Amino acid sequence: SISPAILSTISNGARNGILFKGGIHLERLSKIKAIAFDKTGTLTKGKPNVTDILVRDDLTIETVLTNVAAIERYSTHPLATTIVEYASDHVDSQRKLAIENMEDVSGFGVQAKVDGAIWKVGKAEFVGVKEALEFHKYEVDRLSNEGKTIVFVKDKKGIAGVIALKDVVRDEAVVAIQALQEAGIQTIMLTGDRTQTATAIAKECGISEFIAECLPDTKVKEVKKLEQKYGKVAMVGDGINDAPALATASVGIAMGGGTDVALETSDIVLMKNHLSRIADAILLTKRMNRIIK
Ligand code: ADP
Ligand code: MG
Repeated sequence: SISPAILSTISNGARNGILFKGGIHLERLSKIKAIAFDKTGTLTKGKPNVTDILVRDDLTIETVLTNVAAIERYSTHPLATTIVEYASDHVDSQRKLAIENMEDVSGFGVQAKVDGAIWKVGKAEFVGVKEALEFHKYEVDRLSNEGKTIVFVKDKKGIAGVIALKDVVRDEAVVAIQALQEAGIQTIMLTGDRTQTATAIAKECGISEFIAECLPDTKVKEVKKLEQKYGKVAMVGDGINDAPALATASVGIAMGGGTDVALETSDIVLMKNHLSRIADAILLTKRMNRIIK
C-alpha cells in the first residue's frame, strides 16, 4: 500500500509538472548526491541555428547544403532537423537527389550515397579526425570556443565543408543548476560534443564539471563512475542516445519534450521541460521522508 505522504507528494509533483512513475522513485530521489545532465536538448533548447558554413574551394555552399540536407532529411537528430530547415530556406533544392544506403549512427552522424556518391555528415571521429581537424583549423577552433557545434561534411574527395550551429541554453538551466548546488548536489554535464564547445556551454550554464566527447555507451560508463565517486546519481536527458544512461542511473529523469524512448526509459518526467522543478522535487522528497520516518 502507498502511504498518504507518498500519494500527496506524487500529486503535488504532478500539479507542478513533475511526473513520478512510482513511489519508489520518490525515496530514491531524496537520496541523490549528484545529477548528470545531457547537453543538447536538456540544458540547451535543442533547437540550434546554423551560424557559419565553410566549404572547400571547389564547392559552393549551395552544393554542400543540398547534399547534406538530402541525407539529414532521414535523421531525427536536432542538428539534422535544423540543417534541413536551413537548407530549404536558403537554397532552392528543386532537384531530386537519389538517396541510397542511409545510415544514422547514433552519437556520430549520418551517411548515405547521394546520386551514387558517398557523403558523411557528423563529428570529426565519424568523417576522419586527422583530415577534419586540418580543415580551416583556426576558424573551426574559434567557432568551437564560441560554444558552437561543428558538423563536418565529407565527400569522395575529402572534407567538403563544415556547418557550425549554435544552440541556446534554456532560460531555466542557470537557476536550476544553482539551486541544486545550493542544496549540496553535484552537477555534471555529459555531452557527445567536442571539448571546446562543451567548455563554452558549461560555462554558460554555470556547471563546473563536464565530460565531453561521450558516446551513447560512454554516458552509461560515466554515470557508473559518478555513482562510485558521489553516491546515488540521477541522469537527466531527452534523446535516444540518453536512454541507456537514464536506465543505468539510480533515477532517470526525462525531459517532457524528449523522444519516446527517453520518456519510456525514465522514472520521472519533467512535463514542461522545467529544469528548476528538479531541485524543488528533491527538497519535497526529503521532507516527505522526514514525515514518513
Ligand atoms: P549530445 O550528447 O550533445 O546530445 P549526440 O551524442 O547526439 O550529442 O551527438 C554527438 C555529435 O555527433 C554531435 O555534436 C554531432 O557532431 C554528431 N552528430 C550526431 N548525429 C548527427 C546528425 N544526424 N547530423 C550531424 N551530426 C550528428
Ligand atoms: Mg540530448
